[in-house]
Amino acid sequence: MKNPVVTSWTESTRNLFKPVIVLVITFAATVKLSQSLYRYNLRRRSRARSGTMSSSSSSDNGTGVQARRRSRILSSKLYFDIPNSKVPLIYSSAYDITFLGIEKLHPFDSSKWGRICGFLLVDNVVDKNCIVEPLEASKNDLLVVHSEAYLNCLKKSANVAMIIEVPHVAVFPNCLVQQKVLYPFRNQVGGTILAAKLAKERGWAINVGGGFHHCSGEKGGGFCAYADISLCIHFAFERLNISRVMIIDLDAHQGNGHETDFANDSRVYILDVYNPGIYPFDYEARRYIDQKVEVVSGTTTNEYLRKLDEALEVSVHSFDPELIVYNAGTDILDGDPLGRLKISPDGITNRDEKVFRFARKRNIPIVMLTSGALSLCLIFPSLIFTGF
Ligand SMILES: [Zn+2]
Repeated sequence: MKNPVVTSWTESTRNLFKPVIVLVITFAATVKLSQSLYRYNLRRRSRARSGTMSSSSSSDNGTGVQARRRSRILSSKLYFDIPNSKVPLIYSSAYDITFLGIEKLHPFDSSKWGRICGFLLVDNVVDKNCIVEPLEASKNDLLVVHSEAYLNCLKKSANVAMIIEVPHVAVFPNCLVQQKVLYPFRNQVGGTILAAKLAKERGWAINVGGGFHHCSGEKGGGFCAYADISLCIHFAFERLNISRVMIIDLDAHQGNGHETDFANDSRVYILDVYNPGIYPFDYEARRYIDQKVEVVSGTTTNEYLRKLDEALEVSVHSFDPELIVYNAGTDILDGDPLGRLKISPDGITNRDEKVFRFARKRNIPIVMLTSGALSLCLIFPSLIFTGF
């Protein structure tokens, strides 16, 4: 017979134990994150001050940065020859993030890339051997856009936790965070960069991943740790003899990362259609959008597509691109809690067709990135393999 006192103590202890442990882990993570954030912000402010002071005193600096960037791009291994037997669809199983189940604490589906390809294979839309596997972006590649200080900040788990918005990640050793979170991201970056080369050769290319449009050279956020769009464009400038790029960013969120990186850069035209009532509220970066189209929460399919038609028409008369980078986040889908728009699945297919036809009609190579979405949208198979 059980001792009732012992039994009730054991049960109540067990009941209490779980929430207390969760609380302790969350508290420790939050404290670590706040301390790390504070130190990082101090360093950023001090760097910004010294940058302001030195920029006027050294005119050689800009030339030096350009030369280093050029040499890094020319020595990169991310551009490699792809046989004609492959389709311009880029994916690697290294894209997917699994981290002891805690990846599920963020509403973003961090294994959606693999599931997309799984559906394509099951439906015989594409053969596994025809998919292009990219290489992981190396430190040398990342330094084309990112500063050494920013890459160093990713060596602290608390900073990565802040960027991917999962506080629990702060308590894990950085080697594990690198392997489980940043390594997949770096593979997706390699895919985005390679996609521009493939698009130039074939007319279009899709990276089933990437589109980290909240990350700039100096700052990550919103589940985006590396600035793959900025990197892709700098590689295209240097290696593909391209001098004008249009970014069409139709993810529900504002693409503040690439906007910050290409602020006042006349080689890049940015069309951004976003919901102004959700993250990231980056008013500074909004100043660098060439064509801003705001779609408020609750916008429905017809109104969205009408605004897109008008915006594409305006961009035709404003800029003559040699490459289009299309950030095709599907978080505009009706029911997506992050995007808060009401676009139907057919509406999203229609949106993608409009952008691809826009590019095809003008013979402009187009790179498509899947970017953000809570839910899967398999729009591109019908689009691409029926010849759009
Ligand atoms: Zn988004």
